[in-house]
Amino acid sequence: MRKTLPVIFSPDFQYHRTSPQHPEKPERLDVIMKRLKEGLLGEIIKIIEPSPAPLEWVKEVHDSNYLLRFEEACLRGRSFICGKENEICYDTYEIAFIAAGAVLKAVDLVEKGEKFIFCPVRPPGHHAERYTALGFCFLNNVAIGARYWQKNYGRRILIIDWDAHHGNGIQNIFYEDDEVFYVSIHENPRFSFPGTGLPEEKGRGRGEGYNLNIPLSLDSGDVQFIEAFLEKIEPVVKEFKPEGLIIAAGFDAHQDDDMAYLNVTTAGFAEASEIVRQWSEEFDFPVISVLEGGYNLDILPVCVAVHLKAMLDLEAEDPEDF
Ligand SMILES: [Zn+2]
Repeated sequence: MRKTLPVIFSPDFQYHRTSPQHPEKPERLDVIMKRLKEGLLGEIIKIIEPSPAPLEWVKEVHDSNYLLRFEEACLRGRSFICGKENEICYDTYEIAFIAAGAVLKAVDLVEKGEKFIFCPVRPPGHHAERYTALGFCFLNNVAIGARYWQKNYGRRILIIDWDAHHGNGIQNIFYEDDEVFYVSIHENPRFSFPGTGLPEEKGRGRGEGYNLNIPLSLDSGDVQFIEAFLEKIEPVVKEFKPEGLIIAAGFDAHQDDDMAYLNVTTAGFAEASEIVRQWSEEFDFPVISVLEGGYNLDILPVCVAVHLKAMLDLEAEDPEDF
């Protein structure tokens, strides 16, 4: 059977404009989409345009007053919200809803039988909190998608966040929840933004034991990254028995990405993806991969390509591809 890869993407994502020196810039998606259209992936991608997330689902995760402040800041022409790093433009509020809507679309499609879907979205989401924007993130795309999957379809959801930074927003939103399990691999938070993500943060109340932080020491590479999957995450997959998996897929842990001191290589991301694909087959759950960070414009598209090829079990056309 011929494989297809649904990619939920809107050209409107590029209308979230940031200043040229800002790392989270429209070119990130330009280079990814260009790469996806080339080679083997180009023959199988099926681009699907998302609709904006309905306000009712965004409010499941974000506070109404924060949303009002965010919308007003954009429409009034402010250049940032909740800290200078969170640059906005007139269109950012609207585009952020389309990014969240991409994950909702992916959830609907996996519920109709798709096994793997990629959402190359921006702005990213995993640092966004209920009451605030943080770390270039405004709406928590992954959390909104997980909440929708949980509430609308009654599923148990595992989130694996392999961005180099801890996804504080996702952790906090599901901290007291035992139906959405959050796992994050990230650089040692004692040195790294946003400073959360210690192993002792394990969840609270009903959610105790449903939050797993795996900090890696600075300069960790593929060995430590893969060890985290095999030794720490595999037992979670076996015990929690997720009915759906969302990957918060940041690629800033790559050795050539300046945003962190981790040294994961493209082969490391390929191997991690391969492990996740095997779990999804063995335990029979669909996977939605949602772009988070990754800022080296030469490396990011290669990381995405090897990730997708491994998730789809495609042979690389050429070893040089890695
Ligand atoms: Zn990051």
